[in-house]
Amino acid sequence: MAIPVICTTLLIEKSPQALPLGAACIASAIKNSSETKELCKVSLKAFSLEDDEIKNISENLSGQNKLKAISEYISDELLKLTNGRKAIICISTFVWNVEILKEVAILLKKHGCICIAGGPEITAHPSFYKEFDYCVSGEGELSLPKLIKRILDEEKVDNVIVSQSPDLALLNSPYLDGIIDPSEYGGALWELARGCPFKCAYCYESKGEKTVRLFPMERIKAELDLFSRKKIPQVFVLDPTYNVNKKRALEILRLIREKTPDTFYYFEARAEFIDRELAREFTKIPCALQIGLQSANEEVLKTLNRPWDKKKFLKGISFLNEEGVTFGLDLIFGLPGESFSSFRNGMDFALSLYPNNLEVFCLSVLPGTDLYDRADSLGLKYQKIPPYHVIQNKELQPAELERLEKLSKACSLFYNEGRAVPWFNPVCKCLRINGSKLLELFYEKTIALNTEYEKCCDHKLIEKLQLDFLSELFHERKMERQFKVVQDIIKFYGAISRTTATGKSEIVQLNYNAEYIASDYASDIRWFAENLKPQKSKIQTFMNKGQADFKFIK
Ligand code: SF4
Repeated sequence: MAIPVICTTLLIEKSPQALPLGAACIASAIKNSSETKELCKVSLKAFSLEDDEIKNISENLSGQNKLKAISEYISDELLKLTNGRKAIICISTFVWNVEILKEVAILLKKHGCICIAGGPEITAHPSFYKEFDYCVSGEGELSLPKLIKRILDEEKVDNVIVSQSPDLALLNSPYLDGIIDPSEYGGALWELARGCPFKCAYCYESKGEKTVRLFPMERIKAELDLFSRKKIPQVFVLDPTYNVNKKRALEILRLIREKTPDTFYYFEARAEFIDRELAREFTKIPCALQIGLQSANEEVLKTLNRPWDKKKFLKGISFLNEEGVTFGLDLIFGLPGESFSSFRNGMDFALSLYPNNLEVFCLSVLPGTDLYDRADSLGLKYQKIPPYHVIQNKELQPAELERLEKLSKACSLFYNEGRAVPWFNPVCKCLRINGSKLLELFYEKTIALNTEYEKCCDHKLIEKLQLDFLSELFHERKMERQFKVVQDIIKFYGAISRTTATGKSEIVQLNYNAEYIASDYASDIRWFAENLKPQKSKIQTFMNKGQADFKFIK
C-alpha cells in the first residue's frame, strides 16, 4: 500500500502571493517521478496564519505559548491526514516560519513520521536545523523523490542533502497536473525562470553560479491557457529579471494579452532595462511593476555588488510615467554605509518619481548570503534568529533604526494605503517640506497616538486621518486658503480610487470646480489657490469602460 507523503508549509496570509508554490512543486515532482509514483500517495496541505482555527487558538497568546499552540494544531491536522499510518512529511520553510515548523517536526516525529525540510531557510544553512530528519538544500525536485525512495528502501542516507538544479524543461507544472488549483487562492504565482544573473549581496542569489534557467514556452502557454479557463483574476510573476531579456519579455506580454486579457499581472522589473517599446507593451495588459531601488546612494549599492546606473534608471522610470504604467519602488533601510540622512534622501528621491507605492523594508542579514559572510567586516549587527533584522550598522544607531521603522510604517499608511500618489508631491511642494519629513510628522501626530492605525486599510478612514493631519499642518502655517485646494484634491482622488477599486459610485462636495481640481493646474497648489476662484461643485463618480470617471450633479 502506498505510503502517505504530505507536502506542507505555513503561509503568512491567505492570498495569491502566499500560495504554497514551493511545496506544490515538490508534491508534483514526487507524484510524477518514476522512483516514487507507485510507492507514494502524495498530497499538499498548506496552513496559513489567517486560517480561522489558527487565529482562534492563538488569539490571546504571544511568544512561546503562541508558537506552541500553532505547532500543536498543525501537527494534529497533519496526523489526521496520515490515518495513523507511518508517513513522510515534506516541510517547506522560510525565514519567518521555521521556528514554528521545527516544533511541528518534533511533534510529528514522536508519532513516527519522517520529516524532511527544504526551502530558502534550510538552503541557507542546512546543517543548522537538527529537528528535522533530513534537510534538503537547494531546489528539491530531483533529490526529494530519490531521497524518499532510499528512505523506503531503508538505505542509510546523510541527513543533509545538497540538490542538483533540475532541467526546468523536465519538470511538471503543479498547476497543470492538478496538485494545486490557483482558483482556491484567488490567483497564481507564476514561475517563468529560476536564477538571476546579478549578485546583490543581501540576496540568496548572491552566491553560486550566475545562470538564469527559463521554463519552456510550451509550459508557459499551457499555464496561460489554464489561467484563462479558470478565469484567474491575478497573477504574480516570479522572475526577478523579467525584462532583462527584452525579446522574451515582449513575447510573453503578447501571449498574456492574447490569452488572458482580463487577468491582472504583477511583475518585478529592472528600470534600467525598460525602453519605450517595452513600457508601451506593459500598458496593453492590466498590470503593475515593482522595481527594486533599495538605495539611491551609489556607494551603498556598490558595497552590495549592485551597481546602479542612475541615468538609465531615471530614463526607464520616465518611460513608465510617460506611458502611464503603474509601478512601485522598494527601498531597504539599515544597509551598510547608509546613514539616517542618506536613507531619507533616498526616500525623497524615490517619492519624487511618483511611484504608485513605496515599500520600505528593514535589512535582513540572511544566512547563506554574501552580506552574511561580510557582516562583521562591514560593522553590521543583526538578530541571530529569524528574521535576522539589522540592529546597528556603522552609520546607524538603534534609535535611528527605530525612527526609520516608524518612517516605513508612515509611508505604508499615508502613501501606499492612503493612495497618495496623485497629490503627495504637490502637497509637499506647497508646504515646502520633503516627503520623508512629512511622513515622519504624520507618524508623530497620528500613528504614535494610536498604533492601531498601523493596520488600518479602510481607505475612507485613512483619508480622514490624512485630512485631519494636513489641516493642522496648513493651519499652523496660516495656509487655510491652500488647504481648501488640498482638501478637494484628496477628496476627489480618494473617491475616484475607491470607485476604481469597488465599482461603487460616490458623491463628493468640493470647494472648487472639479474640472480644475482634476487638471494640471492642481499640480501647483499655491498658484491654484492664488489664481482660481472657489466655486462649489458636487460630483458623482462612476465606472466608464473599466475606468472611474465623474459627472457634475446638482
Ligand atoms: S535582489 Fe533581485 S536582482 Fe539582485 S540578485 Fe537577488 S534576485 Fe537578482
